[in-house]
Amino acid sequence: MVLKCIECGRKYDENDLRYRCECGGLLEVVTDLDRAEDVFDGKNVTLWKYKSWLPVKSRVSLNEGGTPLYKLKNLEKGFGVEIYAKNEGANPTGSFKDRGMTVGVSKALELGMDKVICASTGNTSASLAAYAARAGIKAYVLVPSGKIALGKLAQAIIYGARVVPVRGNFDDALRVVVEASAKLGVYMLNSINPFRLEGQKTIALEIYDQLGFVPDNIVLPVGNAGNISAIWKGFKELYEKGITEKLPRMMGIQAEGASPLVRAWKTGEKFKPIEKPETVATAIRIGNPANWPKAWRAVKESGGLFESVSDEEILQAQQLLASKEGLFVEPASAASLAGLIKLLEIGEVDRSESYVLITTGHGLKDPNVVLNRFTLPEPIEPTLDAFKEVIR
Ligand SMILES: *Cc1c(COP(=O)(O)O)cnc(C)c1O
Ligand SMILES: [Zn+2]
Repeated sequence: MVLKCIECGRKYDENDLRYRCECGGLLEVVTDLDRAEDVFDGKNVTLWKYKSWLPVKSRVSLNEGGTPLYKLKNLEKGFGVEIYAKNEGANPTGSFKDRGMTVGVSKALELGMDKVICASTGNTSASLAAYAARAGIKAYVLVPSGKIALGKLAQAIIYGARVVPVRGNFDDALRVVVEASAKLGVYMLNSINPFRLEGQKTIALEIYDQLGFVPDNIVLPVGNAGNISAIWKGFKELYEKGITEKLPRMMGIQAEGASPLVRAWKTGEKFKPIEKPETVATAIRIGNPANWPKAWRAVKESGGLFESVSDEEILQAQQLLASKEGLFVEPASAASLAGLIKLLEIGEVDRSESYVLITTGHGLKDPNVVLNRFTLPEPIEPTLDAFKEVIR
């Protein structure tokens, strides 16, 4: 397999230690589809079932992938459309980032790297820390100081990563990481690393494997814009290999306070980063998505769209998923449902089509968001009479 620039088409060896083209363009792995096997029988779904589609030979694994795909029957009744959720919170560290890291850290070892680094809003650092621990290599994670969800921080610390808080936001931290990877011999595992997206494209392979068909629409939160690009790549490869005959529309949802792609999409103006991104959904609090050109292509080619949702809409969707479907996801993940609800309200979607929401991370990552919104009642006396009052 080779690396290819998405801007100028220049090719590089897959073992070249580089993250961008000479021209500055993003790189992608060109999959050898002759090697890719048709294994789509709906059985024993795990990420490494698709190893013939992946660009690594070795394997640093915690048994990622194989996440549940639920039909959201209760929400379907309410909204009158076919809705599924691919629950990525069920991965080993509680987010889809594990898919990228099992492949990315395996690649790091193949390249002989013994130090890995990332900037992170939280889940990337938790995941990198876990896979580096598994591989026995050193992980450095740079996080925006004070802006990372409790659960994610705890994970990165206990997995033994060197956690470095940075005065600034995610975009600031990423700038430092990019320079460090160029100058200090540490392997960068942010999502501009194309090997990570290879792992993440298995979300598409699994959806097809589990459903037995390609859904009409994929709805997911967009932060640094790697995942939407990766999932689109997965569906395209299935199509190019001749296994499927259809492609889904990609619908990227951003939080209003961090929605540079939505702005460009709706105004038709050139993409411009947002200076001070703000949203309760910390995983998508990103003003300058590094993968935006890939994401733009995914949405354009697929006939999809970008839409934004408010924090209030995100939190209401989070509560709906939990209270109607038993699915507790972190706020960023709930942006997918919030986006679908908004699109239904403004009549931007076809009610006869199917929608797969990617719920990207586990709700326990960020318990404070819930606890800040709800308070418990006063304690009761420890008697049956007191409890009778409660259930009366
Ligand atoms: C990383 C992440 C996102 C955003 O994904 P991108 O690839 O950066 O667009 C969304 N939700 C959760 C829970 C995440 O961890
Ligand atoms: Zn180039």
